[in-house]
Amino acid sequence: MLFLTAVLISPVRIAEKSTIVYCLKLLCTNTSNKLKTLKMTDSSKKNKLNRRDFLNKGLRYTVGLGIGAIGVAAWTKLSSQEMVWQLDPSKCRQCGRCATSCVKTPSAVKCFHVYALCGYCDLCGGYFRPETKNLTTAAENQLCPTNAIKRKFIEDPFFEYDIDQDLCIGCAKCVAGCGAFGNGSLQLQVHHKLCDNCNQCSIARDCPSEAYSRVPAKSAYLFQGIEEKDYQKQKG
Ligand code: SF4
Ligand code: SF4
Ligand code: SF4
Repeated sequence: MLFLTAVLISPVRIAEKSTIVYCLKLLCTNTSNKLKTLKMTDSSKKNKLNRRDFLNKGLRYTVGLGIGAIGVAAWTKLSSQEMVWQLDPSKCRQCGRCATSCVKTPSAVKCFHVYALCGYCDLCGGYFRPETKNLTTAAENQLCPTNAIKRKFIEDPFFEYDIDQDLCIGCAKCVAGCGAFGNGSLQLQVHHKLCDNCNQCSIARDCPSEAYSRVPAKSAYLFQGIEEKDYQKQKG
Protein backbone atom coordinates (compact mmCIF):
# COMPACT_ATOMS: atom_id res chain seq x y z
CA MET A 1 0.00 0.00 0.00
CA LEU A 2 2.86 2.36 0.92
CA PHE A 3 4.54 1.55 -2.41
CA LEU A 4 1.30 2.21 -4.29
CA THR A 5 0.92 5.58 -2.53
CA ALA A 6 4.53 6.44 -3.37
CA VAL A 7 3.89 5.61 -7.03
CA LEU A 8 0.76 7.76 -7.11
CA ILE A 9 2.43 10.86 -5.64
CA SER A 10 5.75 10.44 -7.49
CA PRO A 11 6.66 12.73 -10.43
CA VAL A 12 6.26 9.89 -12.96
CA ARG A 13 4.22 10.52 -16.14
CA ILE A 14 0.52 9.59 -15.89
CA ALA A 15 0.76 6.88 -18.57
CA GLU A 16 3.68 5.25 -16.75
CA LYS A 17 1.83 5.48 -13.43
CA SER A 18 -1.16 3.83 -15.02
CA THR A 19 0.97 0.93 -16.23
CA ILE A 20 2.66 0.53 -12.82
CA VAL A 21 -0.68 0.63 -11.00
CA TYR A 22 -2.14 -1.85 -13.49
CA CYS A 23 0.78 -4.26 -12.90
CA LEU A 24 0.35 -3.90 -9.13
CA LYS A 25 -3.40 -4.57 -9.44
CA LEU A 26 -2.63 -7.65 -11.50
CA LEU A 27 -0.04 -8.81 -8.97
CA CYS A 28 -2.46 -8.24 -6.08
CA THR A 29 -5.27 -10.03 -7.87
CA ASN A 30 -3.10 -13.01 -8.70
CA THR A 31 -1.77 -13.17 -5.13
CA SER A 32 -5.26 -12.81 -3.75
CA ASN A 33 -6.49 -15.52 -6.11
CA LYS A 34 -3.73 -17.87 -4.96
CA LEU A 35 -4.55 -17.17 -1.29
CA LYS A 36 -8.24 -17.75 -1.94
CA THR A 37 -7.43 -21.04 -3.62
CA LEU A 38 -5.22 -22.10 -0.71
CA LYS A 39 -7.93 -21.11 1.77
CA MET A 40 -10.50 -23.52 0.37
CA THR A 41 -12.64 -24.45 3.34
CA ASP A 42 -15.63 -26.67 3.95
CA SER A 43 -17.88 -24.00 2.54
CA SER A 44 -16.04 -24.23 -0.76
CA LYS A 45 -16.79 -27.94 -0.86
CA LYS A 46 -20.41 -26.98 -1.46
CA ASN A 47 -19.17 -25.62 -4.77
CA LYS A 48 -17.33 -28.80 -5.70
CA LEU A 49 -19.84 -29.73 -8.35
CA ASN A 50 -19.61 -26.29 -9.92
CA ARG A 51 -15.85 -26.42 -9.88
CA ARG A 52 -15.77 -29.91 -11.38
CA ASP A 53 -18.25 -28.81 -14.03
CA PHE A 54 -16.06 -25.79 -14.74
CA LEU A 55 -12.91 -27.90 -15.09
CA ASN A 56 -14.74 -30.41 -17.26
CA LYS A 57 -15.98 -27.55 -19.38
CA GLY A 58 -12.41 -26.29 -19.81
CA LEU A 59 -11.37 -29.77 -20.86
CA ARG A 60 -14.23 -29.95 -23.35
CA TYR A 61 -13.05 -26.72 -24.91
CA THR A 62 -9.50 -27.96 -25.24
CA VAL A 63 -10.72 -31.24 -26.69
CA GLY A 64 -12.70 -29.25 -29.22
CA LEU A 65 -9.62 -27.21 -30.04
CA GLY A 66 -7.50 -30.31 -30.60
CA ILE A 67 -10.04 -31.97 -32.84
CA GLY A 68 -10.59 -28.67 -34.67
CA ALA A 69 -6.90 -28.35 -35.43
CA ILE A 70 -6.40 -31.94 -36.50
CA GLY A 71 -9.61 -32.16 -38.50
CA VAL A 72 -9.06 -28.85 -40.28
CA ALA A 73 -8.87 -30.30 -43.80
CA ALA A 74 -12.44 -31.58 -43.63
CA TRP A 75 -13.53 -28.41 -41.82
CA THR A 76 -12.32 -26.20 -44.67
CA LYS A 77 -13.42 -28.55 -47.46
CA LEU A 78 -9.82 -28.56 -48.67
CA SER A 79 -7.80 -31.66 -49.31
CA SER A 80 -5.24 -32.23 -46.57
CA GLN A 81 -2.41 -31.68 -49.06
CA GLU A 82 -3.77 -28.38 -50.38
CA MET A 83 -1.63 -25.42 -49.35
CA VAL A 84 -3.11 -22.72 -47.09
CA TRP A 85 -1.87 -19.63 -45.27
CA GLN A 86 -0.76 -20.20 -41.69
CA LEU A 87 -0.21 -17.48 -39.08
CA ASP A 88 2.53 -18.19 -36.53
CA PRO A 89 1.45 -16.45 -33.27
CA SER A 90 5.00 -16.58 -31.89
CA LYS A 91 6.10 -14.17 -34.65
CA CYS A 92 3.11 -11.82 -34.45
CA ARG A 93 3.78 -8.31 -33.08
CA GLN A 94 0.08 -7.36 -32.96
CA CYS A 95 0.59 -4.52 -35.47
CA GLY A 96 -3.12 -4.46 -36.40
CA ARG A 97 -2.70 -5.18 -40.14
CA CYS A 98 -4.50 -8.51 -39.85
CA ALA A 99 -7.63 -6.39 -39.39
CA THR A 100 -6.98 -3.92 -42.21
CA SER A 101 -5.05 -5.77 -44.94
CA CYS A 102 -7.32 -8.77 -45.59
CA VAL A 103 -9.33 -8.71 -48.84
CA LYS A 104 -12.35 -9.67 -46.78
CA THR A 105 -14.35 -7.34 -44.53
CA PRO A 106 -14.30 -8.15 -41.72
CA SER A 107 -10.96 -9.92 -41.88
CA ALA A 108 -10.71 -13.71 -42.14
CA VAL A 109 -8.22 -13.51 -39.26
CA LYS A 110 -9.86 -13.99 -35.87
CA CYS A 111 -8.90 -14.25 -32.26
CA PHE A 112 -8.91 -17.82 -30.91
CA HIS A 113 -8.87 -18.62 -27.21
CA VAL A 114 -6.55 -21.41 -26.13
CA TYR A 115 -8.46 -22.28 -22.95
CA ALA A 116 -5.78 -24.72 -21.82
CA LEU A 117 -3.41 -21.77 -21.29
CA CYS A 118 -5.88 -19.32 -19.78
CA GLY A 119 -5.56 -18.28 -16.12
CA TYR A 120 -9.33 -17.55 -15.93
CA CYS A 121 -8.26 -14.27 -14.30
CA ASP A 122 -10.63 -11.77 -12.74
CA LEU A 123 -8.38 -8.97 -14.00
CA CYS A 124 -7.84 -10.09 -17.60
CA GLY A 125 -5.21 -8.09 -19.51
CA GLY A 126 -6.87 -9.09 -22.78
CA TYR A 127 -10.33 -7.90 -21.73
CA PHE A 128 -9.81 -4.75 -19.66
CA ARG A 129 -8.18 -1.48 -20.69
CA PRO A 130 -5.06 -0.83 -18.55
CA GLU A 131 -6.60 2.29 -16.97
CA THR A 132 -9.78 0.49 -15.88
CA LYS A 133 -10.65 1.10 -12.24
CA ASN A 134 -13.79 -1.01 -11.86
CA LEU A 135 -13.80 -4.53 -13.20
CA THR A 136 -17.20 -4.34 -14.84
CA THR A 137 -18.31 -5.25 -18.35
CA ALA A 138 -19.10 -1.62 -19.22
CA ALA A 139 -18.05 -0.89 -22.82
CA GLU A 140 -15.62 1.84 -21.74
CA ASN A 141 -13.65 -0.72 -19.67
CA GLN A 142 -13.11 -3.12 -22.58
CA LEU A 143 -10.10 -3.27 -24.89
CA CYS A 144 -12.06 -4.95 -27.67
CA PRO A 145 -13.53 -2.34 -30.04
CA THR A 146 -16.39 -4.62 -31.13
CA ASN A 147 -17.49 -6.20 -27.85
CA ALA A 148 -16.40 -9.59 -29.23
CA ILE A 149 -15.08 -10.91 -25.90
CA LYS A 150 -17.68 -12.23 -23.49
CA ARG A 151 -16.73 -12.29 -19.82
CA LYS A 152 -18.54 -14.86 -17.73
CA PHE A 153 -18.34 -15.49 -13.99
CA ILE A 154 -17.62 -19.15 -13.27
CA GLU A 155 -16.79 -19.38 -9.58
CA ASP A 156 -14.84 -17.13 -7.22
CA PRO A 157 -12.17 -16.21 -8.32
CA PHE A 158 -12.55 -17.58 -11.86
CA PHE A 159 -13.90 -15.86 -14.97
CA GLU A 160 -14.10 -17.27 -18.47
CA TYR A 161 -13.57 -15.27 -21.66
CA ASP A 162 -15.21 -16.42 -24.89
CA ILE A 163 -14.63 -14.92 -28.33
CA ASP A 164 -17.62 -14.19 -30.54
CA GLN A 165 -15.80 -14.62 -33.84
CA ASP A 166 -18.73 -13.13 -35.78
CA LEU A 167 -17.89 -9.82 -34.09
CA CYS A 168 -14.09 -10.17 -34.07
CA ILE A 169 -12.21 -8.10 -36.68
CA GLY A 170 -8.76 -9.53 -35.90
CA CYS A 171 -7.34 -6.26 -34.55
CA ALA A 172 -5.07 -8.07 -32.03
CA LYS A 173 -5.65 -5.58 -29.19
CA CYS A 174 -6.71 -8.36 -26.83
CA VAL A 175 -3.80 -10.52 -27.99
CA ALA A 176 -1.37 -7.75 -27.06
CA GLY A 177 -3.00 -7.24 -23.66
CA CYS A 178 -3.10 -10.93 -22.83
CA GLY A 179 0.52 -11.36 -23.96
CA ALA A 180 1.71 -8.39 -21.87
CA PHE A 181 -0.17 -9.11 -18.64
CA GLY A 182 -1.49 -12.67 -18.92
CA ASN A 183 -0.60 -16.12 -20.19
CA GLY A 184 -0.87 -15.41 -23.92
CA SER A 185 -3.93 -17.61 -24.33
CA LEU A 186 -5.58 -15.20 -26.83
CA GLN A 187 -4.00 -15.78 -30.22
CA LEU A 188 -4.71 -14.74 -33.81
CA GLN A 189 -5.26 -17.38 -36.48
CA VAL A 190 -6.49 -17.36 -40.06
CA HIS A 191 -10.02 -18.78 -39.82
CA HIS A 192 -9.97 -21.22 -42.73
CA LYS A 193 -13.71 -21.45 -42.95
CA LEU A 194 -13.75 -17.74 -43.80
CA CYS A 195 -10.46 -17.34 -45.69
CA ASP A 196 -10.54 -17.19 -49.52
CA ASN A 197 -7.07 -18.78 -49.61
CA CYS A 198 -5.81 -16.10 -52.00
CA ASN A 199 -2.77 -17.04 -54.08
CA GLN A 200 -1.01 -14.05 -52.58
CA CYS A 201 -2.41 -13.25 -49.13
CA SER A 202 -2.47 -9.46 -48.79
CA ILE A 203 -1.87 -9.69 -45.04
CA ALA A 204 1.17 -11.91 -45.61
CA ARG A 205 2.49 -9.25 -47.98
CA ASP A 206 1.97 -6.47 -45.39
CA CYS A 207 2.92 -8.36 -42.22
CA PRO A 208 6.02 -6.70 -40.72
CA SER A 209 7.13 -9.84 -38.90
CA GLU A 210 6.76 -12.43 -41.69
CA ALA A 211 4.34 -14.41 -39.54
CA TYR A 212 2.60 -15.98 -42.56
CA SER A 213 3.69 -19.04 -44.50
CA ARG A 214 2.17 -21.63 -46.83
CA VAL A 215 1.54 -25.03 -45.23
CA PRO A 216 -0.52 -28.13 -46.05
CA ALA A 217 -4.16 -27.77 -44.94
CA LYS A 218 -3.79 -30.66 -42.50
CA SER A 219 -1.56 -28.43 -40.32
CA ALA A 220 -3.23 -25.09 -41.04
CA TYR A 221 -3.60 -24.00 -37.40
CA LEU A 222 -0.65 -23.28 -35.14
CA PHE A 223 -1.17 -22.34 -31.51
CA GLN A 224 1.66 -21.04 -29.36
CA GLY A 225 2.18 -22.98 -26.12
CA ILE A 226 0.33 -26.11 -27.15
CA GLU A 227 2.61 -29.00 -28.03
CA GLU A 228 1.66 -31.84 -30.33
CA LYS A 229 1.67 -34.19 -27.33
CA ASP A 230 -0.80 -31.87 -25.56
CA TYR A 231 -3.11 -32.04 -28.53
CA GLN A 232 -2.93 -35.80 -28.27
CA LYS A 233 -3.72 -35.69 -24.53
CA GLN A 234 -6.58 -33.26 -25.14
CA LYS A 235 -7.98 -35.56 -27.77
CA GLY A 236 -7.84 -38.36 -25.15
S1 SF4 B 1 0.12 -8.48 -39.80
FE1 SF4 B 1 1.61 -9.89 -38.84
S2 SF4 B 1 2.42 -8.79 -37.00
FE2 SF4 B 1 0.56 -7.68 -37.72
S3 SF4 B 1 -1.12 -8.52 -36.44
FE3 SF4 B 1 -1.06 -9.75 -38.35
S4 SF4 B 1 0.32 -11.52 -37.93
FE4 SF4 B 1 0.63 -9.98 -36.31
S1 SF4 C 1 -9.81 -7.12 -29.44
FE1 SF4 C 1 -9.71 -7.34 -31.70
S2 SF4 C 1 -8.80 -9.41 -32.02
FE2 SF4 C 1 -9.53 -9.32 -29.88
S3 SF4 C 1 -11.61 -10.20 -29.92
FE3 SF4 C 1 -11.82 -7.95 -30.13
S4 SF4 C 1 -11.85 -7.58 -32.36
FE4 SF4 C 1 -11.04 -9.65 -32.04
S1 SF4 D 1 -5.60 -15.40 -47.92
FE1 SF4 D 1 -6.97 -13.69 -48.55
S2 SF4 D 1 -8.86 -14.00 -47.36
FE2 SF4 D 1 -7.28 -15.28 -46.41
S3 SF4 D 1 -6.42 -14.03 -44.74
FE3 SF4 D 1 -5.13 -13.65 -46.58
S4 SF4 D 1 -6.04 -11.86 -47.61
FE4 SF4 D 1 -7.56 -12.63 -46.12
